[in-house]
Amino acid sequence: MQPINIRAIQHYLYCPRRFGLLEINDDWQENALVVKGNLVHERVHSGEHAFSSKNVKAESSVQLYNDELDIFGVADCVEFRSSSSADFSEKLGGRFSITVVEYKPTRPKNNEISVPDAIQVFAQKVCADGIFGVNCGGVLYYADVKRRVPLPFDEEYDKYYALLTKLLAEMRDVLDSGVIPNKPPKQNCSGCSLESVCIPKTTAFSVQKEILKQIRGEK
Ligand code: SF4
Repeated sequence: MQPINIRAIQHYLYCPRRFGLLEINDDWQENALVVKGNLVHERVHSGEHAFSSKNVKAESSVQLYNDELDIFGVADCVEFRSSSSADFSEKLGGRFSITVVEYKPTRPKNNEISVPDAIQVFAQKVCADGIFGVNCGGVLYYADVKRRVPLPFDEEYDKYYALLTKLLAEMRDVLDSGVIPNKPPKQNCSGCSLESVCIPKTTAFSVQKEILKQIRGEK
């Protein structure tokens, strides 16, 4: 089984071709959206959001893995909260409930939970469950509007787990084949940083123009 980086799940959900270009071709290009996301994550991973109070300790850049699913990644932030109302991690002396927090540089669309965002946190949560021996929570933090959105993993665990294992199987099929998927029909490419790599702007008309220039001896 091929190990899969959790962040690649979002790429695959956004567009399987993008996932293939990144993971098989090692293509990478940045655009404004990518740079904005990088800046938010750089601030998070710099430790700026790590803090400790009487009841909460927040660690940034926490490495996670799960051997069973063969996935790994880095959580933006993991919060350890002492509280009397939740599951406690036995591995931490039974003193903490744990929440994985993923930072997004945007705002929630139509106030709905984004499945691509949520499944990334769910994969991190499954890793954290195994590492810390507790049923961890998951939260999306939207930096644009400074809003925490708790994710319904307790109520919808089976749904998210089934989706995660399905996606991982599909992604491994692509990696095993070594073939970059085609552009899906109706794929929205606006905002994709790989557009110039994926769809070269060479049209039949520009090819004709180039041939004519060469025939005429123009430079
Ligand atoms: S440009 Fe479009 S088809 Fe190509 S990788 Fe990006 S989203 Fe997918």
